[in-house]
Amino acid sequence: MRNKPFIRLIHAGLLAMFVALAGGPAWANADAGKAGAPIIAADVSVEVDGPTTRFKIALSKPVTAQASLMERPDRLIIDLPEVAFHLPPDSGRQRAGVISSFRYGLFAPGRSRVVMDLAQPATVSGMTVDANAPGGTALLTIELTRTERDDFRRVAADSAAKAAQTTAAEPAAAPKDARPVVVIDPGHGGIDPGANSSNGVFEKDLVLSFAQKLQKKLEESGRYRVVMTRDKDVFVSLSDRVRAARRVQADLFISIHADSISGGQEVRGLTVYTGSERASDADSARLADRENKADAMAGVEPTDIPDEVSDILQELTLRETRSFSHSFATRLVGEFDSIARLNKNPHRQARFQVLRAHDVPSVLVELGYLSSKQDLDLLMSEEWREKMVDAMSGAVDRFFATRLARQGAAAVLP
Ligand SMILES: [Zn+2]
Repeated sequence: MRNKPFIRLIHAGLLAMFVALAGGPAWANADAGKAGAPIIAADVSVEVDGPTTRFKIALSKPVTAQASLMERPDRLIIDLPEVAFHLPPDSGRQRAGVISSFRYGLFAPGRSRVVMDLAQPATVSGMTVDANAPGGTALLTIELTRTERDDFRRVAADSAAKAAQTTAAEPAAAPKDARPVVVIDPGHGGIDPGANSSNGVFEKDLVLSFAQKLQKKLEESGRYRVVMTRDKDVFVSLSDRVRAARRVQADLFISIHADSISGGQEVRGLTVYTGSERASDADSARLADRENKADAMAGVEPTDIPDEVSDILQELTLRETRSFSHSFATRLVGEFDSIARLNKNPHRQARFQVLRAHDVPSVLVELGYLSSKQDLDLLMSEEWREKMVDAMSGAVDRFFATRLARQGAAAVLP
């Protein structure tokens, strides 16, 4: 007999399911991972029983979980308090029943997430936590049942409405001092690992450590106020990165990435991208598409990406901003030219969501290709990173020196 708590969906439209076992409302335990011993996920398994697929996670203690569905592509998202996932590296590749793959990781401070890609429409028909599972673990079971497209769509629409109501409050902007503000944006993070090398190096880790070195270098000069969009392994949506830059009235935004290309061992080198409605070439358009999927990967609806510029003033600002972005990109390429292996066309353009702030000069630097053995060796080399950080900070210095000189000249003109 079942003696564990079991919540069954009353109707398909009831979507946000809470399994509150440790007591309190769903998010009351959101900080449980920080306050006490961390919650560990030690095992995950998928079972198929006719039209039903059961996804099971063995946890070190009971948690509260919330499920929501998203369409295009079809996904099931499970929100959890902060969980440390100690799972075998290929566990997300289990393909069974309605689940074609899944990923997991930190989504925001104190919150973790599992995102499942669905092979066909399915809704959550049950969620349970067995607090006394074998081995002293708590077993979270999510039961999925195949459904019709219309049902799926309705439940997913409810999810989206609910998510829109719970937009997190933004932290207050820090007081602005007179120095230029440089925002460094390490790509990806948390549940979104970005590209990876064949020997298990993740883009998110590599670009964070590079960004931290650049931050240190710029801060040590004393000339800039440096703001990071993330300073740990946490997911930050593309729109939040743009918003962070606008909130601190950034004078320059530098996004750091390291791409990978399948079947292209020989493709390598550093590339600097600036934003543009029209991509400079097909490869850049494809890369921007891939990078723009970061939010979808983490189960975030890309609804609040900043709007297209809407009036003439914004249009003029955008034009000015793009010319600054362009001039910084040119300087970067110039600095890198003598010390780094550059892509054959090192300054390219494409429609990157993260480069869309109309009033912040922005570039995206792809440091190299994780898929190239030579690039990877460089990316992992302390000496190479140091040289690159020096070159970037040199380009930042020159960029602002020119801007200030221009402003000074404008001030003395009649
Ligand atoms: Zn990337």
